[in-house]
Order: sequence, then structure tokens, then C-alpha cells
Amino acid sequence: MIIAIDGPSGAGKSTLGKMLAKEFGLLYLDTGAMYRAAALAVTKAGVSLEDREKVAEIAENAKIELVGEPDSMRVLLDGEDVSAEIRTPDVATAASVVSTISDVRKIMVDHQRAIGESAENGCVLEGRDIGSVVFPNADIKFFLTAKPEARARRRFAEDQAKGRSTSYEATLAEINKRDERDVSRADSPLTIPQNATVIDTSELELKDVFELMADQVRKLSQSSTAV
Ligand code: C5P
Repeated sequence: MIIAIDGPSGAGKSTLGKMLAKEFGLLYLDTGAMYRAAALAVTKAGVSLEDREKVAEIAENAKIELVGEPDSMRVLLDGEDVSAEIRTPDVATAASVVSTISDVRKIMVDHQRAIGESAENGCVLEGRDIGSVVFPNADIKFFLTAKPEARARRRFAEDQAKGRSTSYEATLAEINKRDERDVSRADSPLTIPQNATVIDTSELELKDVFELMADQVRKLSQSSTAV
């Protein structure tokens, strides 16, 4: 079973994706973490984000691995644990620039398909182009969204809990800028995939969103075992 979760940053994709993966024993793939790791590889190499050819070359050669259980997932770049390093606002911005390059996207998409297809019990993938490009035939597609202020509030609370120094205003500005880049890029812009269930999480409790999503998965599991 392939479950695709798309949407802008801070809409709850990661939290809910992990919850679904745990509930149904599926692999969890945070595709944003892959773009972030590729962006970090570029920065570490001292290459300009504008040098599209070099950036694609680095993305091609970088060994990006996501290991461990959903809640304790670690991101390895060429064997080094970069899980914390990829969560800074600078890397987020670099990832959103790098992800506009078609050659980079192709490398990431191939990698994501291979991981999803080889997952024994199925996979929950979350990102921006999962239901539209990576797995257009996914069994279930969700598009999670929320008002920018709600998304920035959540991201800011997360950052504070993790001891990162930032302000609500800076978080809101960063989110808005990344969203704008994600929806306006030529290759695989952020869009609501066909047949996706759209959920606005602004005013909903996490557990209620989870139940809405889990219900669909249960219904699908029951109908496929009934055949
Ligand atoms: O989801 P996250 O905020 O970690 O993603 C970082 C950036 O990677 C996003 O702002 C987006 O530009 C890019 N991305 C993408 N396609 C995906 C996942 C992430 O373009 N499937």
C-alpha cells in the first residue's frame, strides 16, 4: 500500500505521516529530508546553489540514507548523521532552491520510487509531489493544508521546543517564501493531486485529523481483503 501525503510546510504532514506509518506498520519516507540532505551536501562542498549542473552532480553522488523507526529516524549523508543539521532555516531555504532543479528532482524521485516499491508492507511518503509525480497511482492521497499563520505557529513551537533560536515573524516569512517557491516552480510545483482528500488542519485537533486519515486506510484495507 502506498499512501501519499502532500502539502505546504507546517501543515502536519510529518507528524501525521509518522502516526499512520506506526499504526499500520508501514515504512515512513520523509522526502523533504532527502532534499534537505542534498542541499546540505551542496553547501558543504562550497558550491553555489545557482550552479545547477554542479548541484545536480553533487545530488547524484551524495549517499542519502534514512534509517530507523519513524519517531527516531536519522538522516545520513555519506555515512554522517546530519539529522539535526538539516533542520536549520538556512538548509530549509537551500532545499527549496535546490528542489527547483529538474535534474535534482529526477534523482530524488527515482530514489523515492525505489524505496516505496521495495517496502514490504507498503510506505507512507510525504512531500510536495508524491501524489502528482512520484506515485500518481498511490492507493490513498492526502493533501494537508492550513492557514500560513497556523503553520508558522506550529513550526515556531517545534523550533522553540528543540532550542533553536528564531522568532515567529522570521518563521512565518521563511514559510511564505518557501511556499511561494514550491507553488511557482516549473517542475512538479506543489499542487493538489487528482483524487486527493484535502484536509485543512488549521482548526482541527491532531487526533481528529489522524482519525480522518486512518479511517480511509482502514476502509481500503478492509475492501482489499474482502476481494
Ligand atoms: O518538507 P520539508 O520542509 O522538509 O522540505 C524542504 C523543501 O524541500 C521544501 O520547501 C520543498 O521545496 C522541497 N521538497 C520538494 N519536494 C518534496 C519534498 C520537499 O520540492 N517531495
